[in-house]
Amino acid sequence: MNSVKKKLSLIILALLREYKHIVPIEVIERELVKEGASLDTVYSSLIKLEKDGKIGLIFEVRCPQCDNVLGTYCSIKEIPDILNCYHCSYKFRKRLDLRYALRIIIADQKFFRRARSQLCS
Ligand SMILES: [Zn+2]
Repeated sequence: MNSVKKKLSLIILALLREYKHIVPIEVIERELVKEGASLDTVYSSLIKLEKDGKIGLIFEVRCPQCDNVLGTYCSIKEIPDILNCYHCSYKFRKRLDLRYALRIIIADQKFFRRARSQLCS
């Protein structure tokens, strides 16, 4: 791992301690962009930390029209390909562009294991 990525990883892990186990993606983005990271680097750092077993990623799917939460999932694979909003009836495809239809919550592994059954459908 190069030194920039290592630094970003340390910041993410420090934020998890500061926020007591669970950090919204907006906070991670804001803090890492402040350090000069691009959003691509932010996401690749998160995926690397998940692969290394240091963090868990929780995906909260929101309707792009009315912003209501439609479900919470512990992996992208669990999210249905077609989503139907039961608040406003808007129908949309699962987007691979995670920044829009989805909100990502980052949790440390200990908390993630404990909370998995409650947070993920
Ligand atoms: Zn909706």
